[in-house]
Amino acid sequence: MNGSTPRPHTRIAGALLALAGALSGACGAPAPSTPIEHVILISIDTLRADYLEPYGAPTGLTPNVAEFAAGTIVFDDAITQATSTLPSHTSLFYSVHSFVHRAYTGNPPDPQLPSPVGTLRDAGFRTAAFVGGGQLRPRFGLDRGFDTYEIVDTRNIGSDNRDVDRLGNLLTATDGFLREHGRDPFFLFLHTYEPHLPYAPPAAFLSQVSAIGADGIGADLDAPLVEYTPDAGVPEGAWIADDSRRLYAAEVAYVDDFLGKLFALLDQMALTDNTLIVLTSDHGESLGERGLLGHNLFYTEQLRVPLLIRVPGLAAGRSDAPVQLIDVMPTLYALLDVDPPYPFMGTDLGPLLRGDPATGPDRVRFSENKGFAAVLQGPWKVVFALREHNNFQLFNLAADPGELHDLANERAARAAQLIRKYDGLVAANATLMSLFPRRGEEAAQALDEETRRELRALGYIQ
Ligand SMILES: [Zn+2]
Repeated sequence: MNGSTPRPHTRIAGALLALAGALSGACGAPAPSTPIEHVILISIDTLRADYLEPYGAPTGLTPNVAEFAAGTIVFDDAITQATSTLPSHTSLFYSVHSFVHRAYTGNPPDPQLPSPVGTLRDAGFRTAAFVGGGQLRPRFGLDRGFDTYEIVDTRNIGSDNRDVDRLGNLLTATDGFLREHGRDPFFLFLHTYEPHLPYAPPAAFLSQVSAIGADGIGADLDAPLVEYTPDAGVPEGAWIADDSRRLYAAEVAYVDDFLGKLFALLDQMALTDNTLIVLTSDHGESLGERGLLGHNLFYTEQLRVPLLIRVPGLAAGRSDAPVQLIDVMPTLYALLDVDPPYPFMGTDLGPLLRGDPATGPDRVRFSENKGFAAVLQGPWKVVFALREHNNFQLFNLAADPGELHDLANERAARAAQLIRKYDGLVAANATLMSLFPRRGEEAAQALDEETRRELRALGYIQ
């Protein structure tokens, strides 16, 4: 934690002027009436898009997100770069794919590598993060570049604390930060594991979910669930399908309640009109589809994430353009007119925010996790083993949104063409990969007992 000495604001003043100029000249879009002075990036771990009202969830489940969305650009087709917490957040922060950052090894990025969050700090923003523990513990390296990086909620582990207001900790920490530094330019990152397994919502939100009939969002169940049975006090057999969906929906309602309090806090502190807000998640969750519960795979309900961006002065809207989490940091950098520390792999979504379709429907997107990768283009999605390219599945998402019909045999050439795009991407980014050198494995193995306990309870390790 640095002192309260104000940071130089020269870059920011320049950024604000440039932003005003850029926006006033773009596509007839109105110039923002108030400049961007603050940024809040919110990652709700494991949050499925379709459990939010702007993405079709029943009215009353997430009223605060619905109200927030009315002032944002809602991205309908956003995916994560990894359906696992650490690599996904690393891609979000660094705007590179998993094969570049290799965070899935558990090793932190090389200390020599400039962190994009640190570059924002150097540009004059006070940088702060309030996060859940687990894979966001500082030992995994996501704290790089933050003036303040605090774990404020590790109590979502186990099922013995259902009625504790766990998100109250996050709100209190945020309130404290804003009261001390709310007048400074800041980049604030907020994260919670609340809808992650084990689902343990406060009881009031279970009643809310039942009252509005939001117990069964998602596809019809067509197979028994794989039971999740960590050794952290979660009763075996508690995670049958109906219960899982009801509990998960109640977790989302709880998160919405927190977000309502956060947005009210910003209003009270007169921060709403000059704060850029991004609301997203690191991956989705299967809740019974194909008999699955949890994440780490590439099915749509796990790969798709909500992405809502509120830019002061820009009109609200929707975009169905194919976008992805690595686009967030380039978008922030462009809006703030800060030069990236190295070439980002994502795309600036600024034109889409202003209603100009910059990325076409044929954009190729990639995701990667646990030795497998997915390539998406148009209606096609191929999932293949990184060490065995002839081991793949191919789906046509337009004809088969439930991903039940593997076309690997019928359309093998199409699959091979998509897999070559991944190989091409890797080959074209050798220089960038050299910026993220592979570290030894010893750090990943030297977990302290508290970290082990948390990771086990969240299902990351045995
Ligand atoms: Zn996660």
